[in-house]
Amino acid sequence: MRYSDHAKPVITLTAGPVNAYPEVLQALGRTVLYDYDPAFQLFYEQVVLKAKKALRLSNMPLILHGEPVLGLEAAAASLITPDDVVLNLASGVYGKGFGYWAKRYSPHLLEIEVPYNEAIDPQSVADMLKKHPEITIVSVCHHDTPSGTINPINEIGALVSAHGGYLIVDAVSSFAGMDTHPDDCKADIYVTGPGKCLGAPPALTVMGVSDRAWDKMKSNKLAPRASMLSIVDWENAWSKDQPFPFTPSVAEVNGLDAALDLYLTEGPEAVWARHALTAKAMRAGVRAMGLSVWAATDDIASPTTTSVRTPSGVDEKKLRQSARERYGVVLSSGRGETLGKLTRIGHMGPTAQPIYAIVALTALGGALNAAGGNYRIGKGVEAALAVIDADA
Ligand SMILES: *Cc1c(COP(=O)(O)O)cnc(C)c1O
Repeated sequence: MRYSDHAKPVITLTAGPVNAYPEVLQALGRTVLYDYDPAFQLFYEQVVLKAKKALRLSNMPLILHGEPVLGLEAAAASLITPDDVVLNLASGVYGKGFGYWAKRYSPHLLEIEVPYNEAIDPQSVADMLKKHPEITIVSVCHHDTPSGTINPINEIGALVSAHGGYLIVDAVSSFAGMDTHPDDCKADIYVTGPGKCLGAPPALTVMGVSDRAWDKMKSNKLAPRASMLSIVDWENAWSKDQPFPFTPSVAEVNGLDAALDLYLTEGPEAVWARHALTAKAMRAGVRAMGLSVWAATDDIASPTTTSVRTPSGVDEKKLRQSARERYGVVLSSGRGETLGKLTRIGHMGPTAQPIYAIVALTALGGALNAAGGNYRIGKGVEAALAVIDADA
């Protein structure tokens, strides 16, 4: 039997979902308590309090019981009214995608779009807000994962706040992998989840909502209620003394609990540092090998995902298949606009360990060379090691 005949992935280095931490996998196997068992209601309140601590929020966050697309769509449905003028910032597939949801709830959509290997320039946002004082809501994706690029949300948030607008932030693939929190960017709705840098399965939304966003959503008669898309129904569900609108995903909450414990116990700063170091080693290796990083500049390259530009003439899908079959290493493709143009290596949660940069470089280089490339795998590995050793 050939090695490539084995069906199981050996190492999953994707841009999310990622493999979960062993402690999280164990927690998923905890007893499935009845949701109205007082023990579960108390536990649920404690998990939300842990999320509050991790998010460094002043008020209570909430959990929605579906992967973060639910949270993003619910944010659009609940906050945006037909009278709102929305400025959507698009530097990638997810940022662009939010605009389509926004358009469903208000006909007034403005957009700033930049090439998908660049980031939004805060000055362009300042200019747009000045030119269009009627803008009431701004939406931005922090880490546009299919590009592996980061937007300056704290600068953008300060501008939106000074303008008096509401800010919706997709921080699904950045939170817990770098220094980002809802209050730092003055987000009114901040959406994240456990399936990326927290190292848990992807089935929940964790959301921060500002007091003024609660007020706006509750006074919006069109905001979903008695619906899977409802945010307002969950306002008080964190409390052990309040009912749930419907049954929460008990097992997933068990997993989230363990993931938050790991994050808070290791220490957020230490967690961010290993994400950043892994990405830095990866970028150094990519370049030393003779490949190029997709992000236009290093200051916008994500610490949680490295996107490697596909060399011309290479079939990106076949490249990943080869890495999977030859070495058991699973990598991510681009999406939409970036599909076929880049390969993504995730550094998220349990895979944000510098040694995985070496694994990814070796698998990528090996697959490219097997297809006739002439990449200097040894040089790439040495350059990545040099970055790792400089930090030791
Ligand atoms: C992963 C991710 C989400 C969640 O959506 P899926 O496409 O279902 O994985 C949302 N936003 C961003 C930026 C993400 O990386």
